[in-house]
Amino acid sequence: MTQIPVTEKCLTQVLVHTPAHSQMAGVLSYWNETLLAPGTLVRVPLGQRELLGVVWPAEQASETVLDPAKLRPITAALDILPPLSAHWRALINFTASYYQRSAGEVALAALPPQLRDMSSVQLRRRLKKLAKSAKTQSLPTDSALNKTPSKPTPEADTVASAVVLTKEQRQAIRRFRDEAGPFLLFGATGSGKTEVFMQCAASTLVSSSGAQVLVMVPEINLTPQLEARFKARFCPLYGAEAVVSMHSGMTPAQRLNSWLAAHSGAARVVLGTRMAVFASMPQLQLIVVDEEHDPSYKSSEGARYSARDLAVYRGRLEGAKVMLGSATPSLESWHHSRPAAEGGRYLRLEMPSRVGGGQLPLVRRVDMNHQAKSCIISSPLLAAITGRIARGEQSMVFLNRRGYAPVLQCSDCDWKSECRHCSAYRVFHKIDRTLRCHHCGLSERVPRACPACGNPDIMPLGRGTERLEEHLAELLRGVRRPDGQPVRIVRIDADTTRLKGALESQLSQVHTGEVDILVGTQMIAKGHDFRRITLVAAVNPDNALYSSDFRAPERLFSLLMQAAGRAGRDETVANPSEMWMQTFLPTHPLYEALKKHDYPAFADSQLKERQQAAMPPFSFQALVRAEARSQEAAQGFLNLARRVAADQCDTANLLAQVTLYPAVPMSMARIANIERAQMLVESPSRATLQRFLSAWQGMLHSTRADPECKGVIRWAIDVDPLNI
Ligand code: ADP
Ligand code: ZN
Ligand code: ZN
Repeated sequence: MTQIPVTEKCLTQVLVHTPAHSQMAGVLSYWNETLLAPGTLVRVPLGQRELLGVVWPAEQASETVLDPAKLRPITAALDILPPLSAHWRALINFTASYYQRSAGEVALAALPPQLRDMSSVQLRRRLKKLAKSAKTQSLPTDSALNKTPSKPTPEADTVASAVVLTKEQRQAIRRFRDEAGPFLLFGATGSGKTEVFMQCAASTLVSSSGAQVLVMVPEINLTPQLEARFKARFCPLYGAEAVVSMHSGMTPAQRLNSWLAAHSGAARVVLGTRMAVFASMPQLQLIVVDEEHDPSYKSSEGARYSARDLAVYRGRLEGAKVMLGSATPSLESWHHSRPAAEGGRYLRLEMPSRVGGGQLPLVRRVDMNHQAKSCIISSPLLAAITGRIARGEQSMVFLNRRGYAPVLQCSDCDWKSECRHCSAYRVFHKIDRTLRCHHCGLSERVPRACPACGNPDIMPLGRGTERLEEHLAELLRGVRRPDGQPVRIVRIDADTTRLKGALESQLSQVHTGEVDILVGTQMIAKGHDFRRITLVAAVNPDNALYSSDFRAPERLFSLLMQAAGRAGRDETVANPSEMWMQTFLPTHPLYEALKKHDYPAFADSQLKERQQAAMPPFSFQALVRAEARSQEAAQGFLNLARRVAADQCDTANLLAQVTLYPAVPMSMARIANIERAQMLVESPSRATLQRFLSAWQGMLHSTRADPECKGVIRWAIDVDPLNI
């Protein structure tokens, strides 16, 4: 038997996604007849299965002599595609190590799902089809110029840029061109940030042939307007296929097509949600992160990465410029953009004025201590809304709770509509008379009488958007619009937008003026460019001020600023727009800062508090979360792992700079009968925290295997957690 030595057969190391927490590192050895470039996509056998993998030379060559007879050949090389770049592989390696996951998991999650099950023949066929359709559509012909973008909106840009930039926009763009960044574009709502992004993208695209731009948005489903604006601007110049999207609302086939377009360089602009930070873009030269403060940039499953933070890392890695934008930046980014002399690393570009000189809304507070106890809409707010209706203007009223009432309660005994499976109440939905748990999905008809005592009198406690809508309709029953017609109210929340296309049609009703009052959850407060809304009201925003999460005020402030930003965007409306807040704490500093639209004052006071308390960004955190059949098991596992760390990490002296707090139940301690606990890990040094976590990860794995921890279902590390 002649056996070729493994080196001659081309030892090929391949990264695959092995089962979570398995002992395999993720890089497996195969052989192949030819030498494949690192980054080549391949199909390989693993056990009985065949998997997608990426050729991935291990960082340090293993010294162990491989038995060539044991190596299996790769099944196929998808080498019709160019290999993934070294930059891309470095991004994956960094993500895996920083967020404490395996590189295989991160890499495979970053590739389009459809690719996982494709043979090289199928892939070839797909590419041929794409090339054909590109040939027929991509030239900027007259018909492309006249074609309306996929989602026509009233404000979609006309072809190419006809706008005269404001002075602030020009300054921001000049600094972008002249300096390296990363940039934080701190611009008021309606200051024209999107226009700046498009201008920066345009100048990047002309700066070198083939240059690519990545634009990230928190929720692309809510921003079809943005897609339309980018398509209208860039498709006439670079072809119909030059702008592609990447988000989870797309079909697997669409996602694969976008990915292939980005990877091949055909797509010049990629618009996407957080997943797009991993898009393979060989000529990436600019990354824009719009609404950079938005929590949805942080992934909450798998590798819990922050796409915003990775964007900055990726920019540095690839030599691409990075621009973060927000009217209310995250305190982390705000802190990073302090003057360079004080240690700032980002360049802050400021655009405080609204385009056209429109004023930011007047902020009004209603002291709810002076209102009747059961009051939902105070009389001054109602009068203001009625005034807007009389003038034919729109109002937006929001409340961060969907359903009719968050709890049903018996008027006689203690019974409340608790969920059997969760530490939460089931929400009363009047529309179909159900009690629904928003955490596990348990849904039942509302009982006729109290299940505990038989009392037929069970009452809704508190209010949700459904009740708010009903209540407003009652209050405004006698009111007429200028044309004599009754007031039209539309509600937008997760319940009303469940059906495909529902959100779009409701939004277009608002845009075309078929609606007088828009009621909804925070879903409506973000990002939309509503032109006719002149009054925005937060019905009950105080909750966040009682939260134990130290980031709650930051989130509330940004939500209210965003919401206020929906009002008065049309400078041709004569009356000043208004932002109303009903509050029991009218003199709270957060509301004071909001009244002045003074984000810097708010941010600086928050940062001072954080510094005194040694909280992020002045310290670095990670959470370990565990799920188990019982709280004891979940906490027991974490506390055991903590003791192991104390025993084993002493020698490295890591614990001098790392604090492990005792395990506690999570704020939602039980969901669907699974108990959840968490442990906070904190350090003044990011590097030390990283070193500790890498060392501790193995201990967590072996602790889990301890018979004492039988009840543990799963655990995960969350680095830089957002919710504590
Ligand atoms: P932001 O993202 O800062 O909230 P947008 O970029 O959405 O603001 O701009 C708000 C509105 O102003 C949009 O309708 C946009 O088309 C328009 N706009 C932006 N820049 C200009 C300009 N220089 N001249 C006229 N209109 C502009
Ligand atoms: Zn009862
Ligand atoms: Zn439940």
